[in-house]
Amino acid sequence: MRTQVGIVGAGPAGLLLSHLLHRLGIESIVLESQTRRHVEERVRAGVLEQGTVDLLDASGVGERLAREGLVHHGIELRFEGASHRIALTDLTGRSITVYGQQEVVKDLIRARLDAGGEIAFEVSDVTLSGVDSASPAIRYRHAGEARVLDCDFIAGCDGFHGVCRPSIAPGVLTEYSRSYPFAWLGILASAAPTSPELIYAHHERGFALYSMRSPKVTRLYLQCAPDEDLARWSDERIWSELHARLETSDGWRLAEGPILQRGVTPMRSFVAEPMRVGRLFLAGDAAHIVPPTGAKGLNLAVNDVRILADALASWYAGRKGAIDDYSPRCLKRVWRAEHFSWWMTSMLHRFDHGDPFHQKLQLAQLDYVTRSKAAAASLAENYVGLPFDYGEAP
Ligand SMILES: Cc1cc2nc3c(=O)[nH]c(=O)nc-3n(C[C@H](O)[C@H](O)[C@H](O)COP(=O)(O)OP(=O)(O)OC[C@H]3O[C@@H](n4cnc5c(N)ncnc54)[C@H](O)[C@@H]3O)c2cc1C
Repeated sequence: MRTQVGIVGAGPAGLLLSHLLHRLGIESIVLESQTRRHVEERVRAGVLEQGTVDLLDASGVGERLAREGLVHHGIELRFEGASHRIALTDLTGRSITVYGQQEVVKDLIRARLDAGGEIAFEVSDVTLSGVDSASPAIRYRHAGEARVLDCDFIAGCDGFHGVCRPSIAPGVLTEYSRSYPFAWLGILASAAPTSPELIYAHHERGFALYSMRSPKVTRLYLQCAPDEDLARWSDERIWSELHARLETSDGWRLAEGPILQRGVTPMRSFVAEPMRVGRLFLAGDAAHIVPPTGAKGLNLAVNDVRILADALASWYAGRKGAIDDYSPRCLKRVWRAEHFSWWMTSMLHRFDHGDPFHQKLQLAQLDYVTRSKAAAASLAENYVGLPFDYGEAP
C-alpha cells in the first residue's frame, strides 16, 4: 500500500490533519489502534478556542458545532468564598465554545468517510522505518494480516503514550517535563448546568472546576492525589466535596444527577523538541502535554496540524524548505501555552507542602487578576487563544 502521508492516530490531531490534507489535494491514510466507537466516546477536552472554531468552520466541519456548541463570553474565578468574573469577550473581542472533543472527533470521522477517506481502526503492532530516508514506511497488523504502508511522510498523531515519539533514536529529542503532586478526579453527570459559565475554584480543600458539555450534562473536576483510588470515592463523597469547594454564600447551588462516567487524570507538562525528525512529524499530545487547567491541549493539537498541512502543501508545491519551519513555528505557541497552563495550575491548586506563604501568593495573584483590567486581559487573551500568527515572523 502507498499514500502520501501516513498518519498514526485518529484523535483530533490525526483526523483533522487528514481532513485538511484532503482539502489541499494530498492523500493520507489514518491508522488507529482503538475501535471507532471507543474514539467517538472518549470524553476529554471540551473548551474550543475561537481560532479552533473558526478553523473547523472554514474547513467545512463546523455545521453541528455551530448548532450545538455553547458559546461562552466569560469564566468565573472563585476564591475566599466569593465569585469574580473574567469577561473574556469584553476584554478580547473573542469567545470560547464548549463542545466535547468526542463530538469534534465524530464530525471529523464522518467528514473523512463521506469524502472517501481511509481510516483503519483496530490496527496493532505499529512500527516505523526509514524516517531518515525519502521513503519512510509504517508496518502494522490489521484484520489479522501484516501490512506495510509506504509514504512520503509520517505524521505521529498518536498521543502521549503512542509509538512514534519512542521510535526516534535516543539523544535526538530533548524532552522537558514536570509532573504535579496532584491529579483531577473528573465526573460526567446527567444534571442541567446551574451556572452559565465555567467556574474555577481555589479552595482550602483543593481546586475544583465546574463545566458543562450540553444543556443537560455537567462535567466536574476535583483536585485529588496523583495515585487516587477511585474505589474510595462514593457518589456521596464526590458530591459532598464538590458542594464544599464550589458553592458560595450568595446562594448558588450545584445540581446533582446520576454520574455517567468518572476517572482520574494525571497532571503533567511535557515538550519534546524538535517536532520533526527527517520525514516524521510529531503533532498534538505526541509532542507535548499540558495540565488541563488552561484548556489548551486540544487547541494546540489543532494548531500543529494546521501548520503541518500548510507546510506539506508548500513542499508538494515545490517549496521544499517549508517543512523545516514546522517545528519552530509550532513551538512558539506550544511554549506560550505551556507557561499559561502551568501558571493557571500553580495559581489555583492546593500544594500540600504546608507553606502558608505560597497560599498567600496564590490569593494575591487571584486578587490581582480579578481587580486589574490589564491582568484580567492577559488571562483572557491566553484563555480564548492567541491569534494563529502569534510568534510568526512579522
Ligand atoms: C480529562 C482531560 C481533560 C482535558 N480537557 C481539555 C480541555 O478542556 N481543553 C483542551 O484543549 N484540551 C483538554 N485535554 C487535552 C486533550 O484531550 C488532548 O490534548 C487531545 O486529545 C490531543 O489530541 P491528539 O489527537 O494529539 O491525541 P489523542 O487524542 O490522545 O489521540 C491519539 C490517538 O492515537 C491512538 N494511538 C495511540 N497509540 C497508537 C498506536 N500505537 N497505533 C495507532 N494508534 C494509536 C489513540 O488511540 C488515539 O486515538 C484534556 C485531556 C484530558 C485527559
